Amino acid sequence: MTIGIIAAMAEELEILLKDLVLDEKRKKANMAFHKGKLYGKDVVAVVCGIGKVNSAICTQILASEYNVDKVINVGVAGGIGKEIYPGDIVVAENLVQHDMDTTAFGDKMGQIPRLSTFDFKCDEEMINLAKKACEEISEINSFTGRIVSGDQFVANIEKIKWLEKEFGAISCEMEGASIAQVCYLNSIPFVVIRSISDNANNGAHMDYEKFTPIAVKNSTRILNKMLNLM
Ligand code: SAH
Repeated sequence: MTIGIIAAMAEELEILLKDLVLDEKRKKANMAFHKGKLYGKDVVAVVCGIGKVNSAICTQILASEYNVDKVINVGVAGGIGKEIYPGDIVVAENLVQHDMDTTAFGDKMGQIPRLSTFDFKCDEEMINLAKKACEEISEINSFTGRIVSGDQFVANIEKIKWLEKEFGAISCEMEGASIAQVCYLNSIPFVVIRSISDNANNGAHMDYEKFTPIAVKNSTRILNKMLNLM
């Protein structure tokens, strides 16, 4: 079994790549695919770049060229709601692309036209493993729910309120739901695990700079634990 591990940015994969016992490194679509062993598991770890296009290309390469059996997306994200703070973990139950808009045809916001699903559901077994990993690291708070993705760094209170009301989202980021769509189309079980870097509000870019290092540490710890449980 090979697990594809995707992060959007180099800093999100930095700790993990230090622990990876590298077999082979190959560049494709300007992304470096690191094949090797991580905490005893066969993995291909890759930094895909920011946004839905980069993450979709990356996931398809993992599917077509590396035949990965599972995909895990880790990284940082904006928190939605009063109770969620930087450093907390969110495990996605399902994901939606909040910027997909064919409402002019009567579709729901987020619905990808002509696709028979509204949201992309994470693999139940992988969700449970991620949740178990969170339980075992009890000093890190964790939440499970819907994560929404779009090609936008959300830094606006009105937008967060809308994401919460329209989608019931607990977190927003820029890659998870497109990774999820590619996994859905290729029938690959996946899960998205993110750690909160900011609250997607008006000061989000400053919180993001401040809290990303701790958020990365936390998501890497959870992933480490999860791989050990697998
Ligand atoms: N210039 C910045 C851009 C970061 S974009 C940089 O290069 O560091 C934000 C990244 O973190 C994306 O990969 C996204 O998935 C995640 N993210 C964190 N907080 C977010 C928020 N409030 N809204 C959207 N994405 C967020």
